[in-house]
Amino acid sequence: MKAIQLFGAGDVRIGEVPDPKLEHAGEAIVRVTAAGICGSDLHLYHGRLPVDPGFVVGHEFVGVVEEAGSEVSQFTPGDRVVGAFHTACGACWSCRRRLYHHCGAMRLFGFGTAFGNLRGAQAERVLVPNADLALMPIPDGIDDLRALFIGDILTTAHQAVRNASFNPGDTVAIVGCGPVGLLAQRCALLQGAGAVYALDRDATRLRIAADNGAIPVNIDEQDPLAILLSATESRGPDAVVECVGAEAALTAAIQLVRRAGVVSVAGVFTENIPLFPYGMLWIKDARLVGGLCNVLAYWGEAMALVAHGRLDPSSIVSHELALAEAPEAYRLFDRREALKVVLHP
Ligand SMILES: [Zn+2]
Ligand SMILES: [Zn+2]
Repeated sequence: MKAIQLFGAGDVRIGEVPDPKLEHAGEAIVRVTAAGICGSDLHLYHGRLPVDPGFVVGHEFVGVVEEAGSEVSQFTPGDRVVGAFHTACGACWSCRRRLYHHCGAMRLFGFGTAFGNLRGAQAERVLVPNADLALMPIPDGIDDLRALFIGDILTTAHQAVRNASFNPGDTVAIVGCGPVGLLAQRCALLQGAGAVYALDRDATRLRIAADNGAIPVNIDEQDPLAILLSATESRGPDAVVECVGAEAALTAAIQLVRRAGVVSVAGVFTENIPLFPYGMLWIKDARLVGGLCNVLAYWGEAMALVAHGRLDPSSIVSHELALAEAPEAYRLFDRREALKVVLHP
């Protein structure tokens, strides 16, 4: 089958790899109909995570079940499904407490040797271990593009906003207007925020933020702190959601949040920050929450919001390309010329 393989930093290619085969009774094979390129795929693309040369990448996918092992009880061939970005055992101490993202046997699709060496989904087919847990059925009437992000970035945004624990009517700032930030703006409004301020420096992304109902703030042209202080009687926003995964964005979030507010981090941090401003966080008595998304615990909520028509994440898709165009797609995404790329095998 055809698949997108990583050979080194900046070197993704379309190649031929063996078709997946069922080896355990709980597995399923999904024929992929759409696969996203995620911001966290760029950690691999930039060579920051170890992979064997030719490793198949990708962890955002929807498709159709082609084969299901004898112990798969929830799916049969022909079912349309969305996949989570990782698998879990469903039985260990963490899984029994619904902390699936801390499962000792957890494996991430397409994330290399440090995360279970599980072949990714930017391919014609993907093998899904423990399919009953790692797949979710797509209701009739929900198309692929609306379902695709439930397995990763939509639920990441939804959970990060939930973790921000603000009250109805509160003022919320979202740092970063990438795909996760744009989805977090909509989640914050759905979850009752009174006003959502969207911070970025990209005029196009800020226009989409305004279309979402957020108040755009261009950090190169405006002073976000002054704007947010004047909007909140000099307190600062009740909650700030960091959607970048960078030191400057996290520092800005801590500077912005009001005393005893919440900074919720959706961004992916793969390295420590040596000069993390803990003193400011301490003085403010603000709460910092973050970490890998517990997608298997929260994706049911995200799917319900999509199924009821409250959220349509498909509008963040800027490019739909054939699988073979993945090398160019990665270049476009890496240069921020594409907001969100979906590949169709
Ligand atoms: Zn991702
Ligand atoms: Zn487990």
